[in-house]
Amino acid sequence: MIAVRGGRAAYHQGCEREKTIVALSYCLYIVPMDLERRQHFMRLALDEARQAFEEAETPVGAVVVFEDKVIGRGHNQTERLHDATAHAEMIALSAAFNYFGDWRLQDCTLFSTLEPCPMCAGAAVLSRIKTIVYGVTDPKFGACGSILDIPSEKRLNHHVEVIGGVMEAEVSELMKLFFQQVRKNKARIN
Ligand code: ZN
Repeated sequence: MIAVRGGRAAYHQGCEREKTIVALSYCLYIVPMDLERRQHFMRLALDEARQAFEEAETPVGAVVVFEDKVIGRGHNQTERLHDATAHAEMIALSAAFNYFGDWRLQDCTLFSTLEPCPMCAGAAVLSRIKTIVYGVTDPKFGACGSILDIPSEKRLNHHVEVIGGVMEAEVSELMKLFFQQVRKNKARIN
């Protein structure tokens, strides 16, 4: 509570003090906690990406989070399933739909190691998801700001907040390792 005693000036002083306290706690507590939380769930998405790597799939992993709980997870399975739609995000979203028995994911966050493609970004928008958090940008298929920007497309009737670059170094390292191996295997065959 702010003391109003002393009139308008004291009230404003109180307001300013409270604003400073709020700003300080935002800097010291809320922001790092948010960052930690993002990194925690990105680490779980990265575990999924590693799983894809072990299965010789392009190493992309995703998790869907609701109230700090993972309700869907998936990794890329396009090779194994011979299915161009078997992206990590699609699999994680499907699991989340099953969890709720509903296609609406309003208060959920989709964490993906790679910037979602047009299909996955579209699915996230259709599911009314709140936020997409991704690790590295995808200059070939990225649809969350790189090539297209589906989550912010004004003509669509739902918009999704996007946060990119979370644990970028770790994700990049895994992707680089994978493509190095692909090149080595190709060289061996040729
Ligand atoms: Zn995709």
